Amino acid sequence: MTSETRLIDEHFRRAALRHDVVLGIGDDAALTELAGGMQLVSTTDTIVEGVHFPAGLQPGHIGYRALAVNLSDLAAMGAEPLWVLLSLSVPAADDVWLAEFSNGFFELAGQHRVALIGGDLVRATLSVTVCALGQVPAGAALTRSGARNGDAVFVTGILGAAALGLSELEQRSTASQWRDYFVRPQPRVAAGLALRGLANAAIDISDGLVTDAGRVAACSRVAIHLDPHVLPGLCAGHDLGNALQGGDDYELLFTADQGADFPDAGTIGGVGYQRIGEVRPGSGVHLPGFDLDTLHGYDHFRI
Ligand code: ADP
Ligand code: MG
Repeated sequence: MTSETRLIDEHFRRAALRHDVVLGIGDDAALTELAGGMQLVSTTDTIVEGVHFPAGLQPGHIGYRALAVNLSDLAAMGAEPLWVLLSLSVPAADDVWLAEFSNGFFELAGQHRVALIGGDLVRATLSVTVCALGQVPAGAALTRSGARNGDAVFVTGILGAAALGLSELEQRSTASQWRDYFVRPQPRVAAGLALRGLANAAIDISDGLVTDAGRVAACSRVAIHLDPHVLPGLCAGHDLGNALQGGDDYELLFTADQGADFPDAGTIGGVGYQRIGEVRPGSGVHLPGFDLDTLHGYDHFRI
């Protein structure tokens, strides 16, 4: 047995939680079954040490986070997560590190009953790529392009908390009020499922409210006007700047018909949500009193 196979068997090969996995880890590729009338929803995201998380982050948190950011993308599509693939690049075959990493990964996988069905393991600098696969009934997926003039705009949870958590980590602060928002983001899977058939558009907020609301506005060819009276109440630590442009919150932004099924505040899929604005004709994201063009969320390729 090669050491790679031993590491995979020891740390990643666990009994599949699902009956729709026909052939999981161990062959050249996995085989899974999709129920009739369903569409496959696929996404992948990579997290790299020093880019997406600070060096020295606990391995369990890295494993949890790598899966969370991918499940968040499925949530934003209104998809039910089913299976994941994990391509892991690590600098050494460190069993202690891998055991902690996989425990963090499987903790979240278990919460959402997703099966790890394959992946890759290589030795290089630390980076983690997850490919997540889910399903929606044909035609029921939520997209960025469905916002309509007159829609109300909502977000789940609070905003800017992960950015505060990251700065606590980076400053090695003893304060840890916000840390879990960064290290253990909660993908809003139940909210995404509950929004099927109700929301017109959705996105997960990974790069900051202004940037991600701007993506919905651009894809839907509309403008999003944020309400200056509501936003401050949603800001972690009363920090409006973080709420507008801090990344990594993984809350859902969605739009729905005005007044339809959503009061201005409530809960959906076990998480609170609030109305933060409305969709109007035009383009871009607007907040009275702020020049949002000068604000930027996270952008890897900004020059
Ligand atoms: P191949 O050389 O055919 O790509 P590998 O030796 O890379 O095969 O992988 C053997 C099996 O283990 C495959 O089923 C692959 O999907 C799975 N696998 C490899 N790395 C991981 C990992 N980190 N997590 C889960 N499964 C993995
Ligand atoms: Mg391989």
